[in-house]
Amino acid sequence: MFQRGFQASSGQFQSQFGWVASYIWARYNNLTQKITISRSLVIFQDFITAVGEAKTMFITAHVGPDGDTLGSMLGFKHAFEKACPHLQRVDCVISGKMPDVYQFLPGIKDILRMETATTLLTEYDMGISVDCGSVDRLGLARPLFEAAKVSVNIDHHISNDRFAAINIVETSAAASAEVAFDILQTMQIPMDANIATCLYTGIITDTGGFKYSNTTAKVMETTAKLINSGANPEYIFKQLYDEQPQCQVMLQADALLNTRFNAEKTIGWTVASRELLEKHGALDEHLDGLVESIRRIDSVLIAVVLKATVDGQTKVSIRSDSHQIDVSAVMGVFGGGGHKMAAGCTMPMTIDEAPAKLLPLLEERVRQMQLQA
Ligand code: AMP
Ligand code: MN
Ligand code: MN
Repeated sequence: MFQRGFQASSGQFQSQFGWVASYIWARYNNLTQKITISRSLVIFQDFITAVGEAKTMFITAHVGPDGDTLGSMLGFKHAFEKACPHLQRVDCVISGKMPDVYQFLPGIKDILRMETATTLLTEYDMGISVDCGSVDRLGLARPLFEAAKVSVNIDHHISNDRFAAINIVETSAAASAEVAFDILQTMQIPMDANIATCLYTGIITDTGGFKYSNTTAKVMETTAKLINSGANPEYIFKQLYDEQPQCQVMLQADALLNTRFNAEKTIGWTVASRELLEKHGALDEHLDGLVESIRRIDSVLIAVVLKATVDGQTKVSIRSDSHQIDVSAVMGVFGGGGHKMAAGCTMPMTIDEAPAKLLPLLEERVRQMQLQA
């Protein structure tokens, strides 16, 4: 039956047999050159082959998970559990705490934490990392990832260092969830409301609510398909942005009032100590979005939030307001990374010491930009 399929184009072949057809195409592609193939089938062929041959799979992502990490992980989990009965288990696991704001995502309760999980295997046939630029950002999940028989890195960060056996790094994608959508489409796995809600959440969070420069026509086309498959834009937006706990709004107001600026007001930064969080009864995740409020100021070209971590280091969240200023490159100096206009790092020093190390580099970037203008 499959032989007959191979005589046809891969497009016909896939629609006849669903994702299994794309697996068989990917697996035996070396044996036949005759068929017409789509570009995406070639790009994803190693991945599709690996999915077809795995019995056990786990999916993980970067520490400090966000809407894109969780949405991509869960989108894959729902899709593979539905369409790939040969997979005996698809486990999702992250290192560290999960922000409460994502509790509405279908299946979120099934995401395990490395710190507390007791049901994980010691070795999986396949380990997938999503939305993570380097293996050390997997945190406690790193040894599990490195022990997987096949490791896969699915991401969109410009700073990604291709750390896995199979690397699908689409730096032009707005979100890892957009890459996940393309993979599932190529595998001909049908969307449903659960998958669509998860992937929509990944895309809306990484495009800042469809307002960053990564909001392409393709993003909107993908988003339209997700809505047609059951994602509810009003519901998802409300869950993410319009139901904040009081402590979050008050904490951010307090931190915003204490924003400091350089003389030209091109750089704005604020510092969040553990005491500030305690004062408002707030958690680390309640600082999410604060850096955007600083960037919103018209003179600001670089916005920074410096947060004290529980172990006395400084987590930097940075945003650029100019296409000429690459903050990911600045974060690279401190072992971090991210995207050109949204990046981060952890500096091994206190929040009192960090500004003196960081601000001169930012001043320099602004100066270079002004000289080029
Ligand atoms: P955040 O400010 O935490 O929302 O992060 C902004 C962007 O920078 C996201 O794409 C993160 O994945 C990335 N990022 C944040 N911290 C780091 C880090 N320590 N290393 C590499 N990328 C980071
Ligand atoms: Mn992310
Ligand atoms: Mn992302």
